[in-house]
Amino acid sequence: MSFPNYFADANSDFEESDYVIFGIQYDKTSSFRIGAKKAPDEIRKYSWNFETFNLRNEVDFIDIKVHDHGNLQIDNYSIDKVIEEVESYTKKLLNKKKFPIAIGGEHSLTTGILKAFEEDIAVVSFDAHLDYRNIYENEKYNHACVIRRISETIDINNIMVLGVRSAEKNEYIEAKNDGLFWISSYDIIKYGIKKYFSDFKKKINNKKIYLSLDIDVIDPCYAPGTGTPEPYGIKPLDLLEFIEYFSKDIIGFDVMEVCPTYDNGESSMIAAKFIKSVIEETWLINNQ
Ligand code: MN
Ligand code: MN
Repeated sequence: MSFPNYFADANSDFEESDYVIFGIQYDKTSSFRIGAKKAPDEIRKYSWNFETFNLRNEVDFIDIKVHDHGNLQIDNYSIDKVIEEVESYTKKLLNKKKFPIAIGGEHSLTTGILKAFEEDIAVVSFDAHLDYRNIYENEKYNHACVIRRISETIDINNIMVLGVRSAEKNEYIEAKNDGLFWISSYDIIKYGIKKYFSDFKKKINNKKIYLSLDIDVIDPCYAPGTGTPEPYGIKPLDLLEFIEYFSKDIIGFDVMEVCPTYDNGESSMIAAKFIKSVIEETWLINNQ
């Protein structure tokens, strides 16, 4: 069966839209399993699986003005040029007061998106990995370095990494020494993510939140299609609870590292659902 090549029910044109979805088909620095460049179109395909109406929040997605830009034109670009292109496209969206939703591609792309934000924001990254290496495989924009790169332009006190369960020893020590805030998946599973919401609120201190999702934060049982799967992960509903609780504060979202080659569509399906949840919840809280 064939499906339209845009995100389901993203029926608005650019000018009238409040949310803009764009794909970035780039996965060249991925270290283990390649294939994340196929994710944007796979995730779009799976988005057609869902009803437009959501019985949990009683939102009908067709009431929201969402535009799907398609994929950025970055064929044969170097990673530095891709980052520049992502930054300039995100800037365009922010200048027009659009809520950016990026579909990767690999996690390093988030660096480009965040360069476009001029205001003082907080960054919440859900990730199995710390991504705090200074350099990896001779590449400073490697996906294993994204939090480190972000910390060079955004105060490290305004960054949180949630659901972590893997780091290289040196990376771990440096992150600790530099004061990076993270919560492991073990603690989220043991205590429940809600237990941390008041801590997060204090830490964020009324700043707006950019939410970055590395799909590998979700346990590989739910989302096996990713480049560097890591067992003992959190559940999809943990992330949904975060999205619902912080819906007033979230001003941008990306979902990265889905690698459709390595599953039967589960990861693309859950990624499409998270995109819908972020759009619905942020829209709902501002339109009640
Ligand atoms: Mn990761
Ligand atoms: Mn990552």
